[in-house]
Amino acid sequence: MKKIAVIGAGTMGNGIAHVFAQKGFNVHLIDSNSKALEKAIQTIEKNLNRQVSKGTIDEAEKANALQNILTFTTIKEGVHQAELVIEAATENSEIKKSIFKQLDVNTHPDCILATNTSSISITQLANVTNRSGKVIGMHFMNPVPVMKLVEVINGKETSEATTNIIVELTKILDKIPCVVKDAPGFIANRILMPMINESIHAFAEGISDAATIDQIMKLGMAHPMGPLQLADYIGLDVCKNILDIMHEGFNNEKYAPCPLLVTMVAQGKLGIKSGEGFYKY
Ligand code: NAD
Repeated sequence: MKKIAVIGAGTMGNGIAHVFAQKGFNVHLIDSNSKALEKAIQTIEKNLNRQVSKGTIDEAEKANALQNILTFTTIKEGVHQAELVIEAATENSEIKKSIFKQLDVNTHPDCILATNTSSISITQLANVTNRSGKVIGMHFMNPVPVMKLVEVINGKETSEATTNIIVELTKILDKIPCVVKDAPGFIANRILMPMINESIHAFAEGISDAATIDQIMKLGMAHPMGPLQLADYIGLDVCKNILDIMHEGFNNEKYAPCPLLVTMVAQGKLGIKSGEGFYKY
């Protein structure tokens, strides 16, 4: 497998393109927003420069990685030769279903369709295609070039062959695959998001300030980052979307997003990407 397409050039898409390009894959990075594509290439270059200054790669490897990435604004143009597509567009099931329908029509029938979704049902996305055995979750962590985990999620009909290919591919990227079943939030977010949500409740109730809440979790639980700082980093809109999906998927109030989170998202306070969340950037 050499030809990969990545849909969505935001926080995660640029990181996924980066790691594949660095390992010699030809990457087509696709985003409907040309500004997002420009920003993604700048981010990838900045992150590769950081790797060069740390001595983990040299200038030639950086140049090769950048050369391996081409950008496109339409799915049709970008995916027709792909052997694997990884969808990393906005966390919204209607947007993702529409993308999967387009991918099913515009890619070779053997092409594997993976999604980086944090919480949306793999089985539901597979059901809009005619190749449910070749649809799988490939859930990278943020920041992609640094984090080792890839949560590999089998939909109801994902074939064993598809899982095996994605597991092996994950290892080629120097990452560690953990295979799980399809359920709202899978494993990573099912455990992480209630913790973030609870920390927002504690903050909203004025039990403590953001820095102290984060400090408690860093010092007491050996977390490298506190939950409110992590929420800013992930994006408060992304956190809210994941909680909404778990709330609905499990039909359980314990997953309902904290009202303060809902308000902050409505006010455009999305964390680092908007310049303000629980902290100012
Ligand atoms: P983001 O908002 O940074 O980027 C999403 C990109 O998708 C945007 O550039 C947007 O223009 C593009 N897009 C939207 N609709 C499109 C379409 N129809 N065709 C092409 N491009 C389209 O989002 P993100 O944080 O990178 O998240 C992407 C996915 O990764 C989501 O499913 C999210 O749940 C998942 N994820 C996010 C994180 C995180 O920490 N942010 C971690 C793991 C997984």
